[in-house]
Amino acid sequence: VIAVSCPSCGGGLQGTQGRTLVVCPFCGVEVKLSLTPIETMQRMLEKRAALDPKMKVLMERYAEHLGASRKQEALVYYEAFTYLVCSLSYDVEDLVELEPMVTPLMRDAARQIGAAYIAPVDRGERVTFASVEALVA
Ligand SMILES: [Zn+2]
Repeated sequence: VIAVSCPSCGGGLQGTQGRTLVVCPFCGVEVKLSLTPIETMQRMLEKRAALDPKMKVLMERYAEHLGASRKQEALVYYEAFTYLVCSLSYDVEDLVELEPMVTPLMRDAARQIGAAYIAPVDRGERVTFASVEALVA
């Protein structure tokens, strides 16, 4: 637990491990907690360790679908994988925030396997931690 005070109202904030953004319960301001470089490294390793098994499942399912020439289905798994990779570097409330970053990467990946990529927004869907969780379940 990281204890800091809100730069806006001075109220006491408690950051829980694994989050660098907290909303001040007193004034509602969003506060970015600054971590020391070693805390950042520890945090990154923890995040990676939690994501590794999921990324492995996504990769296996991608390969299965691709092997069976189900390119669109394969891309769903590659997409989830890419969202998780990007979430390692950027702190987001949910994966959907990474869409502008992931979409160009997905277009390239789709091109490589000779498929067209339809972004979640154009499919009427959203990629979230919950939707990725459902894919690896
Ligand atoms: Zn405050």
